[in-house]
Amino acid sequence: MAAQCSHLDQIHKVKPSANGCEDCLKIGDQWVHLRLCLTCGHVGCCDSSKNKHATKHFHGTHHPIVQSFEPGENWRWCYVDEVFME
Ligand SMILES: [Zn+2]
Ligand SMILES: [Zn+2]
Ligand SMILES: [Zn+2]
Repeated sequence: MAAQCSHLDQIHKVKPSANGCEDCLKIGDQWVHLRLCLTCGHVGCCDSSKNKHATKHFHGTHHPIVQSFEPGENWRWCYVDEVFME
């Protein structure tokens, strides 16, 4: 049985907060890939980036679902259920 995400009701029509990882931009650091929080629009960097701001955002806010913010990618990931959605 495939695991399912039970947090789809926490997805909103969000406006990306920045054109890059907003937390890295604040400290002048760099990132590898970007993730968009679908609950509040926070843009953070992925776990391949040294600061892992998207994951830190989840731990700080418990917003469960991020979507890739990379051009041409629109997969989603739920941190709580650890489900990958395409
Ligand atoms: Zn979920
Ligand atoms: Zn970052
Ligand atoms: Zn958020």
